Amino acid sequence: MSEKNYIEGEQILLIDSKKRRYLIELKAGGEFHTHVGAVLHDDLIGSADGSSLKSNRGGVFSTVRPTMSDFVLKMPRGAQVIYPKDLGPILMLADLFPGAQVFESGVGSGALSMTMLRAGANITGYEIREDFAERAKKNVKAALGEKALDRYDVLIRDAYEGIEEKDFDRMVLDLPEPWSVVPHAKTALRSGGIILAYTPSIVQAAKFKEALEGNGFALIETMEVMNRTWHIEGQAVRPDHRMVAHTAFLTHARLLST
Ligand code: SAH
Repeated sequence: MSEKNYIEGEQILLIDSKKRRYLIELKAGGEFHTHVGAVLHDDLIGSADGSSLKSNRGGVFSTVRPTMSDFVLKMPRGAQVIYPKDLGPILMLADLFPGAQVFESGVGSGALSMTMLRAGANITGYEIREDFAERAKKNVKAALGEKALDRYDVLIRDAYEGIEEKDFDRMVLDLPEPWSVVPHAKTALRSGGIILAYTPSIVQAAKFKEALEGNGFALIETMEVMNRTWHIEGQAVRPDHRMVAHTAFLTHARLLST
């Protein structure tokens, strides 16, 4: 979104004095009720990204357009999402680019989908649950607008059973048995293409690697991303006490022609 001012229909993040965050969709005449009174959507529509406003009972809110990370953390979920700490690295490791033909499975809540669509990918997604597929499409539309759906084709299909489409540049997997997709990836991915799997358990990563080796994939690497935030307050400068110690392993490889 490149407009300077908020427009009706877009999603805005409100932040209160206690740093609590609320994601709202702007509707003409709409009201957002908080513990410190109502915020009128009409006061926000037309005002600048980054502006502050008061509720009718004097509560002060900062407002900003949500970043992709904000949206992923706040959007409605069906399945458990991939978090921003892994979404960013996935774009690099799978080397996503504008116009890339990408196979994704499962699509879950659409967090990974919207990240890749925003990087310019065209996605064919296989998802076994119809309710999750619908949720993912709604989330993608809310985050990126209706036009992004032209590049997002979600099919209700089981990725373990086979892949009909061919010539994908990239395949990105977040489902329980990525190794069951590897024999199909061998024919669905073009030579030189990249496959990546997100697996919470290292046992899954090891099984995936074994399948990759048996199916013509090379340049295989497994890694994890650790993200430690810091507390910086005057002389008190130290890592935060709490961190998310684990989400998942990222395993990626390239298909070589035989
Ligand atoms: N990456 C997604 C979350 C995916 S959760 C996000 O960031 O939002 C895993 C998804 O895989 C679930 O929606 C589940 O229904 C789907 N799934 C599991 N097995 C599958 C299969 N064999 N084929 C297609 N989808 C599958």
